[in-house]
Amino acid sequence: MIEVDDKRNCTGCTACKSICPRDAITMSSDDEGFLYPQLNHELCINCGLCDRVCPLPQRDKQDNACSSLESYVAHYNNNDDIWYESSSGGVFTAITDFILESDGIVYGAAYNKEWEVEHCSSSNKTDAIKFRGSKYVQSKLNDTFREIKNILLSGQLVLFSGTPCQVAGLKSYLKKDYLNLMTVDLLCHCVPSPRLFKDYINYIQKKYKKRISKINMKDKTLGWNSFQTPRIYFEDGTSIFNVEDTKLWETIFYSHIAVRPSCYSCRFSNLDRVGDITIGDYWGVENFHPDYYVPNGASIVLINSRKGQEAFKCFSKYLRYEITDPIKGLPSSLVYAVSPHLKRSQFWLDYEVMSFTQICKKYFGLGLLNDIKRRLPALKSLLKIIIRK
Ligand SMILES: Cc1cc2nc3c(=O)[nH]c(=O)nc-3n(C[C@H](O)[C@H](O)[C@H](O)COP(=O)(O)OP(=O)(O)OC[C@H]3O[C@@H](n4cnc5c(N)ncnc54)[C@H](O)[C@@H]3O)c2cc1C
Ligand code: SF4
Ligand code: SF4
Ligand code: SF4
Repeated sequence: MIEVDDKRNCTGCTACKSICPRDAITMSSDDEGFLYPQLNHELCINCGLCDRVCPLPQRDKQDNACSSLESYVAHYNNNDDIWYESSSGGVFTAITDFILESDGIVYGAAYNKEWEVEHCSSSNKTDAIKFRGSKYVQSKLNDTFREIKNILLSGQLVLFSGTPCQVAGLKSYLKKDYLNLMTVDLLCHCVPSPRLFKDYINYIQKKYKKRISKINMKDKTLGWNSFQTPRIYFEDGTSIFNVEDTKLWETIFYSHIAVRPSCYSCRFSNLDRVGDITIGDYWGVENFHPDYYVPNGASIVLINSRKGQEAFKCFSKYLRYEITDPIKGLPSSLVYAVSPHLKRSQFWLDYEVMSFTQICKKYFGLGLLNDIKRRLPALKSLLKIIIRK
């Protein structure tokens, strides 16, 4: 029976929970807000299925050779709005359009009413807009794997997209390859804590005394290549952008201090991809394909299976694309896992006793700009005195 003794060895993929014939496993949150399997010993019959389904030990044995059959630099150029609203080149929407036009069903990550990120399904293009754009926090999978298996058995086409560890979990749970399943994995370097994200949402709504109506973690007003660009919309029609409070989540994300422990020893940060198709940001595209460097962003697309190749023939009609060499400008998430943050343990100790604002001041420089601005007149006077002397 599954026991998580080292948190680096559990991505929270839910494969063990989903396979248990006695429903003896639930996913429960730890103090950091990440979900882990929890066993009810009274229900367990010791069948061992949960141990065998975990994809990580298997992954550790693989040689991780490059799986990519083809690779492209691409963006969704038929529709500027879609492209603008997507995190990079909008390739994901091109794939969903193809699946939905083939009467398939799409699974991806979306915000729920409480602004938690969770996996859910959609069978029409209007509803599938909820998947568009990266949500930089770990998504809850709920009962997605069992639902998908039932749909696959009915013969309907299914697209599942997620982080590579989620795709690996689904494939391991399903045990065999289904012709009617298409999987898309994202280039991924970490997922931050859902607990922190919840506190961030509360902080914003309380400070601005308004309810959030939409979050776009990659607003392209300043271009795709610039960092720190989330935009938060409120129910009264206003929005905040390019201010300290919107930059804050991006700072938290890239600090790597509050990410899932398994991300520090990620088994998927290499060229051995788990999905039929891999999509990511094509950072550095201007160096290799200057024509594709446009303010709205470009994606890198790796095609990893025959199924992926067949699908690409269909959805590439929405794209402007060119063959590329994935080795050119290899994204770091294809090479190594993020390094553990040296202050991570202290951060979580502090988190239990400090307010969210205090935490952000201590670890993410919140208020630093305001402090500098406030002190600027005094500093100027001091400087004048020094110069006169
Ligand atoms: C947590 C996270 C980390 C990432 N890290 C990198 C990286 O290091 N390098 C890199 O090149 N690209 C990274 N990406 C991927 C990148 O941000 C874009 O999602 C990707 O380029 C696809 O963009 P798109 O324009 O084709 O489509 P988009 O419309 O932007 O893609 C949306 C897709 O992302 C999925 N998705 C969104 N949020 C989540 C989530 N929290 N969990 C699972 N799936 C989610 C949606 O279901 C949908 O499939 C990351 C994405 C996420 C969510
Ligand atoms: S050993 Fe079998 S019954 Fe027990 S938790 Fe694992 S899958 Fe469930
Ligand atoms: S199957 Fe997934 S959720 Fe279960 S222990 Fe392994 S990684 Fe964790
Ligand atoms: S970095 Fe690795 S372990 Fe972490 S969410 Fe991404 S794929 Fe999963």
